[in-house]
Amino acid sequence: MQCDLCGKETDELFEVFIEGSRLHVCKDCAKYGKIIRKIPTGKEDNEHNSVKSFKRRKPREEDKLYYFIDNFGKVVELARLKRGLRQKDLARMLGIKESLLHSIETSSIEPSVPLAKKIEKTLSVKIMQEASPVDVSKTFEDKHSSSLTLGDFVKVRKR
Ligand SMILES: [Zn+2]
Repeated sequence: MQCDLCGKETDELFEVFIEGSRLHVCKDCAKYGKIIRKIPTGKEDNEHNSVKSFKRRKPREEDKLYYFIDNFGKVVELARLKRGLRQKDLARMLGIKESLLHSIETSSIEPSVPLAKKIEKTLSVKIMQEASPVDVSKTFEDKHSSSLTLGDFVKVRKR
């Protein structure tokens, strides 16, 4: 089974309402919408799909810390318009629903990291930044208004 939003192969699919569309998405993406129900999945389906190569992927990109730039939606929209693409066209190129692209362009939904990467690649733009340890420690300092201890740092880096 594949997630409609990020395209990830998953055993657990949820039917959710996102911006008026009914989508079948993975657990991670389900948080972007209102969950209607969990979709029962037949495990057998996975057997004859060549999922093996999919499952043994290198450490997942999603595990890294990313944050989206301000107005990432505007950046996507402008880049799309520059290429003379309609939302419909770009949505098809990305393999997502037009309504989802619309939500992204209005910055009302943050795309999943894999999807964001796809957008960046397709439009040659940057809409998110990898949070460096410096950024993380900064956040920490803001929160605690004290200096960062090594223990805190290790906690942050650990998965
Ligand atoms: Zn997903």
